[in-house]
Amino acid sequence: MSSGRTVLGMPRIPRSVDPETGLPDTTGRPDDPGLVDRFGRHAIDLRISLTDFCNLRCTYCMPAEGLDFLRGDKLMSVEEITRLVRIAVHEFGVEQVRFTGGEPLTRKDLPEILRSVSQISPKPDISVTTNAIGLEVRAAELKEAGLDRINVSLDSVVSETFETITRRPLLHRVIEGVDGAAAAGLNPVKINAVLMPGVNDHEAADLLTWCLDRGYQLRFIEQMPLDAGHSWNRSSMLTAADIMGLLSERYTLRPDEQPRNGAPAELFRVYPRGSAECLGKVGIIASVTRPFCADCTRTRLTAEGRVRTCLFSRDETDLLTPMRSGASDAEVADIWRAAQWGKQAGHGMDRPDFVQPDRPMSAIGG
Ligand code: SAM
Ligand code: SF4
Repeated sequence: MSSGRTVLGMPRIPRSVDPETGLPDTTGRPDDPGLVDRFGRHAIDLRISLTDFCNLRCTYCMPAEGLDFLRGDKLMSVEEITRLVRIAVHEFGVEQVRFTGGEPLTRKDLPEILRSVSQISPKPDISVTTNAIGLEVRAAELKEAGLDRINVSLDSVVSETFETITRRPLLHRVIEGVDGAAAAGLNPVKINAVLMPGVNDHEAADLLTWCLDRGYQLRFIEQMPLDAGHSWNRSSMLTAADIMGLLSERYTLRPDEQPRNGAPAELFRVYPRGSAECLGKVGIIASVTRPFCADCTRTRLTAEGRVRTCLFSRDETDLLTPMRSGASDAEVADIWRAAQWGKQAGHGMDRPDFVQPDRPMSAIGG
């Protein structure tokens, strides 16, 4: 490691590799055109990181300083992103594409990416996960370009707490961005929040009230061990049960009757205590304490065009180099299928041999 800089670590060679092709071993894979894995899961949900750069520095996601960011032709171009989504839709039947990062709004060509991907037939459902900085001036253009939905990350509506978490005094910019997105018709606006003990846990009910008042749907995500500082601790993290307890101090929560259909968020209807008037819904994503790995339908691409089949993968499979070396769509699809076949059963956070990925969340794509 060079002094003062965070090294992301090169991905290791896949554990099980075909010695002839150098690709992940596909022994036992059925003759299925889709993205299937050894545990019978079928990926139809694609997450693409557009950049590892971000204008915030959330403590659970990035280091305060010292990251080297991918630039220029290390990142996938509009054409390369479109080609990979087309392969995913046409070859594998992928139905949903979510662009993430790092911060996707920092890519100036985001409208072009959305416009180009939305031309694919059948058009996938297209969403973006963002910190919303600058969204108020771009929301209408992004919607016109084909964006269907957004998720905004917002962990506190108290300026000091926001700055403690993100290391930037920019709460007002995020609120302008969220409100601008709603005004542009990017509804329903969903807000993602991570709670940390002693930092923003005491504000959980206030954040829910703020979202309910504006018609935004809040989802709390259990913090996962994807921080650059590797300081996550299973015994001190806030669990879904803790979050329910904090919200119940102000509200009554009743499980939503709608079937969950494998969605990661468990939804609850929210009532003022002692009242039958439903104010809206809140979601809890219990990735750590109630993992949904067995129902996972995701495949991921990093900003430099590598397949990561899980947030917690220790391996990645390069698609961009073969694409730039002239591989056909069918060849790229085969490499992707082979990578997905090797998807791990689960994140394994509760196992004693669990090892946190080298890359922080910002460099994986959340
Ligand atoms: N910059 C965008 C944003 O913040 O929405 C997109 C990228 S961010 C990595 C995607 C999501 O990952 C955010 O909702 C963020 O809260 C979540 N996230 C980041 N690090 C996390 C962690 N260690 N545990 C749980 N969620 C995390
Ligand atoms: Fe940036 Fe999103 Fe990570 Fe925060 S969570 S540092 S906004 S990439």
